[in-house]
Amino acid sequence: METKAAVFRKVHEPLTIESIEIDKPWGREVLVKTAATGVCHSDLHVVDGVGRFPLDRPIILGHEGAGVVEAVGADVTTVRPGDHVVACLSGFCGSCEQCLGGHPNLCVGGVVTRAESAPPRLSQKGQAFRQFIGISSYAERMLLHENSVVKIDPELPLDRAALVGCGVLTGVGAALRSSGLEAGQTVAVFGCGGVGLSIVQGARIGGARQIIGVDVFESKLEMAKRVGATHVVNSAQDDPVKAVRALTGGAGVDHAFEAVGNTTLVRQAIESLAIRGTATIVGVLPPDAKIEFPWMAIRPECRVQTSRMGSNRFRVDIPRYLEFYRQGRLLLDEMVTRRGRLDGINEAFRAMKAGEVARTVLLFE
Ligand SMILES: [Zn+2]
Ligand SMILES: [Zn+2]
Repeated sequence: METKAAVFRKVHEPLTIESIEIDKPWGREVLVKTAATGVCHSDLHVVDGVGRFPLDRPIILGHEGAGVVEAVGADVTTVRPGDHVVACLSGFCGSCEQCLGGHPNLCVGGVVTRAESAPPRLSQKGQAFRQFIGISSYAERMLLHENSVVKIDPELPLDRAALVGCGVLTGVGAALRSSGLEAGQTVAVFGCGGVGLSIVQGARIGGARQIIGVDVFESKLEMAKRVGATHVVNSAQDDPVKAVRALTGGAGVDHAFEAVGNTTLVRQAIESLAIRGTATIVGVLPPDAKIEFPWMAIRPECRVQTSRMGSNRFRVDIPRYLEFYRQGRLLLDEMVTRRGRLDGINEAFRAMKAGEVARTVLLFE
């Protein structure tokens, strides 16, 4: 079937809107008509050539998609045509050691894509196109494994639900699932983009008594306050480590989160900790990144850990976080700072780089 998609061909060059061929769903695959897709930093990393994996091109990017199931393969059991679904890049096999150990976000089974030898899901005039993390949501249709989607309540708005597939899941989950946050503790969030704002919200929902947002953009700090930060620090003006200590009466915070993937912010997060504090690194750093800090800067019995995609079990977590949205506890309307169409993708990347938006969401027919 023909479908329109934003094609990425060359590093640093704009994506182009082209017609591509999308295969029929086989076996456990699901064909989804895309309703909305968020524009996430991980896509921009690929366009800028700083992704973790050297990806073959051409490729269809996008991984924060939501839509309506159009057709399913013969072996699909969890969704049917007409269902509303959110895609998640934590597609899982359900039978590897990580999945069975309760950590499907770390699945090593690798079932969500087709075998290299099989006909491609996406192609153009006989040339195979790469699919991004088994999703490729910058397209009118997505062809994915059923374990890459979760069914949601059809009453929920799909443009906001889409965000919960990546950025919101990652941030809220980092606070509620990965960090070990207890109600009444103190939190600092370094970087208040889409993920950082979601960490702020997760910390608020989890009962943190103080939430300090740190960023260099005033607009993002304003947003942080709107979604739950009790204090903000502009790190372009003030040393954030000193500011966090001052705001906590010298103690430092119980939990510091790094939400960008920047070595300086990781160091600042670690240096802002209280005794027995925990730094949770949510951002993805360059593979060769090194973090250095004076030993004296670390308080006794501190911990540094990473969080992958909010330690999610997304089939459980996405409906749960959407229930928080319905209750008014998770603010998603505020997170969509701009809406556009598929051909607005390059502008969305520019706005993200300029720090103008928390999230742009692209809408389809
Ligand atoms: Zn993402
Ligand atoms: Zn697995």
